[in-house]
Parts: sequence; structure tokens; C-alpha cells
Amino acid sequence: MNTYARLPVAFVRGEGCWLWDAQGKRYLDGMAGVAVCGLGHAHPKHVAALREQAGTLIHTSNLYEIALQERLADRLAAISGMENVFFCNSGCEANEAAIKLARLFGHKKGVESPAIVVMEKAFHGRTMATLSATGSRKVQAGFEPLVSGFVRVPFDDLDAVRKVAENNRSVVAVLVELLQGEGGVNICGDEYLAGLREICDANGWLLMLDEVQSGMGRTGQWFAFQHSGIKPDVMPLAKGLGNGVPIGACLAAGPAAQLFKPGSHGSTFGGNPLCSAAALATLEIIEEERLMENAVQIGDFIRGELVRHFAGSRGVKEIRGKGLMIGMELEHSCGELVQQALDKGVLINVTVDNVIRLLPPLIMKREEAELLLATLVPLVAAFLDRQSAPRAAAQSA
Ligand SMILES: *Cc1c(COP(=O)(O)O)cnc(C)c1O
Repeated sequence: MNTYARLPVAFVRGEGCWLWDAQGKRYLDGMAGVAVCGLGHAHPKHVAALREQAGTLIHTSNLYEIALQERLADRLAAISGMENVFFCNSGCEANEAAIKLARLFGHKKGVESPAIVVMEKAFHGRTMATLSATGSRKVQAGFEPLVSGFVRVPFDDLDAVRKVAENNRSVVAVLVELLQGEGGVNICGDEYLAGLREICDANGWLLMLDEVQSGMGRTGQWFAFQHSGIKPDVMPLAKGLGNGVPIGACLAAGPAAQLFKPGSHGSTFGGNPLCSAAALATLEIIEEERLMENAVQIGDFIRGELVRHFAGSRGVKEIRGKGLMIGMELEHSCGELVQQALDKGVLINVTVDNVIRLLPPLIMKREEAELLLATLVPLVAAFLDRQSAPRAAAQSA
């Protein structure tokens, strides 16, 4: 169906940070399939694990024990400090599981109509419950009636959450992205997470961190919450978890860990042997190749260079991000830059109309980052020139 405004290019092959189209033109991947291919494309060890597992056993069913799924759950628990894991196939499904956990948790406490605090500019997915939790009219428009049970507040505003706590006895949880991805690479203040934890503890709410995009090493830690000393109760994951093999997970700890019982939730494909093997290999490679350290180094380099070239420039609002989740907010709509970069063989993204977004593979090398900047910087500079002198540009054209 006509669900995507696709760019006019199709890739037929990939290796590392590079993709090729059928004409043999090479593209530097600054998007990693929207934060999915952290290991880049065709990583030999990931491919070998997939080949091996595909030739052994792809799918059985959650009717039976799945040793690889258990191993993956153990690994995820070990690196996150969480306790239990539910496996699914995507980010929205991981969030659906979180929303269902919050509602079970509420009902168990005797709350008749449990509600979840969600944020402006949030993105949690495209299913009915997750698009209702999403803070974007564009995502919701046309799909009313929305799912009820969400209370929206501005992002990075603890007082707004406190006000909800004072006035709304039905709230049982907060669902938030620590770094908003689709919403424009919005970052929160250092005290935000600790403040949310405090409010949740004081009111007996679950703290649910959507790390679908920020997780799996992208910000320089396994999970963005690990930059602070605060732990969530529930954490949905997906995107980078299988390096392109569809897998999602909802992790839980403490009061949220034991809520699901046999029959309360499920998934046909979730955590099957193939995707579990893919995710296990992904975790191993991230660790072995020290990709989280690399994400910090390369991310700092790219952001630093963008700041060096553009900080204070007319038309540039802010350059921000963490690790390899990078955003550059401009004053004006800049969607045209995506096609211009594509023509020059570099894949970037523009989100919320005026934020240039980079989500490179975690394996990106310094030389590749330099190449990416060598294309992007002049394009943005020319764009800003056109914006600040539209009449002169029109005349010379
Ligand atoms: C991409 C994304 C989702 C949705 O994931 P899908 O796999 O597309 O369903 C949910 N939350 C966040 C933060 C995301 O970035």
C-alpha cells in the first residue's frame, strides 16, 4: 500500500557502512536503516550466525521451550539489570507489551481505569495504542477514536508530571523516550530521569523507558538510562536488537516483572530461534568490537565538527544528541537536503521537517565520518546561504 514517500533508490548489496544500488553507485549509510543496523551491513559474524541458525532451526513456537530465547533473555537481563523479558517482533509491539503491563499493574492496585503519562513529541509506534501514546497529530490524524488512558505533558518538564500526580489518581505509569528520536532528537536535562524516578516512586507508578531507538549501544551505553544511576521498571527494545532481523523485547523489573501469566500476552514469532540467534550475535559483536566506545568517539567527532562549522550560524537552532544519535535543528524546513545528499551518495534523514538526523552504524570509522561530513557540511552551508539570501539566490538562478 501507499504508506511511504520513498526515495527513488533501491539498494542491492551492503558491506559495513556502505550500500550499493543496481547501477553500482556506492552510498555511505548515515542512517543504518533507522538505527537498526548498528553492525553495518553483512557483518561476517552476524551473517555466519544467521546462516548457521537458518540451516539448523528457524521457528518452533512459544508452545515449546526455546533455549536460544532463554539465553538471549539472560544476556539482556545481565546487561540491563532488568529481570524478565517478553519477546515480540517490533518496537510498537514492545510498547504494546509495556502498555499492557501498566494496565495490569493498575488493575492489580484497584485502579479502575488506569492511565499512563506520555510526552509531547513522543513516538512509540503505529498500532492503535502506540499511536495514541505518540505525541504527533500527524501520526494520529484520521485514526480516531484513539485509545484512551493516556495523559500528555511536555517533554523534559518535571513540574508538569508532578501536577498530574497531584490531580489524577488514575495514573499508574510514565512512558517516555529519554532521547526522543522521531520527535527531533530531543534530549532532556540531567535531572529529568532522576526526577521521574522520584515521582514514580512517590506515587507508586511504573517508570517505562522506550529505548527502541536509543538502546543497543547507540548512545555509548547499552541503554540511554545507563548514563545515569537510575533504573526503569519497564523497557521496550527493538530496532538495533537483531541488526535487521525483526525482533523486539519488553524488559521488566520489580513489580512489573511478574505481572504476565500464561495466557495474558503472546506472539507467534516472538523470540524464535532465528531472531534470537541474530540478537545474541549482535550483542556479542557490540561487546567484542567495543562499538559503544566507538559510538561515543565517532558521535562526539561528528557533533563536534557540526558545531565547529555551524554553531551560531544564521538559520541553525541547535546541534544536539548523544553518541550516534545526532540532530541538527534548522530554522526552516530542510527536507530537500535528503535528496541532495542521496545524489552525492550519502544517506541522511530529516525528521519533524527541520531537524537533520544522523543515525550511522555503530561501526562507523573516523575516515567514513569524515567522508560523511565532507558531503553534508557543504550541502548544509549552501542551504543556509540560500535561506539567508533567497532573493540573491533567485536572481543568480
Ligand atoms: C521506531 C520506534 C518505535 C516503533 O518501532 P516499530 O518497530 O516501527 O514498530 C517505537 N518507539 C521508538 C522510540 C522508536 O524509535
